[in-house]
Amino acid sequence: MSLRILLVEDEPGLRMTVEDLLASEGYEVDTAADGEAGLLKATAEAYDLLILDVMLPKKNGFDICRDLRQRGYDTAILMLTAKSQVVDRVVGLKLGADDYLAKPFDPAELLARIEALLRRVKKEGRTAVTSIQFGDVDVNFETGEASKGGVPVSLAGKELQLLRYLVDRRGKVVLREELLQNVWEYQSDVSSRTIDVHVAWLRQKLEDNPATPKHIHTIRGKGYRFAE
Ligand code: CA
Repeated sequence: MSLRILLVEDEPGLRMTVEDLLASEGYEVDTAADGEAGLLKATAEAYDLLILDVMLPKKNGFDICRDLRQRGYDTAILMLTAKSQVVDRVVGLKLGADDYLAKPFDPAELLARIEALLRRVKKEGRTAVTSIQFGDVDVNFETGEASKGGVPVSLAGKELQLLRYLVDRRGKVVLREELLQNVWEYQSDVSSRTIDVHVAWLRQKLEDNPATPKHIHTIRGKGYRFAE
């Protein structure tokens, strides 16, 4: 499967040039021409890498980056900036970008940065999970389809989001507070009881024996941990 890149760039000429360049290198490329469309795509689909221009209509690249990180997305991000000032670089990295490249850039330099970033991400195991199999369960996070023992299981949007968040951090304890912040974004009517209820539903649908879960573990007083 080829690696997927989302390019968010408002200058049509540059967007096309970079899109062609990446496609010719074998990447699967999606594009967006403004910040809002870019954020929408970045959250709706799974990418291995996001290339974000800083100066964008509707929502700038820094804001997209910050929003994604706050919501728990850890896709690799390369920022493109027209300015090479240190402040941009510092702000970008602070907001969670992984690397940045000043415009105008040499196409070879862009490709080298992308390759290095993807290599690093792969080594850290941070490539976004698009699907997972555990036990007799199959979940495709891109299509939202799930099955257990070959029988389709219907997962609600929040259940999918919650599962994906835990799966992306598998093996690690995820605190309830973190789930409230990143999966529920502090909605006023949501309490940690809501999380427990959603976890119970997930277990009901996906575990062989929901009372003694093998995959979605409760860590008493803290939160949850997913194990394959
Ligand atoms: Ca721009």
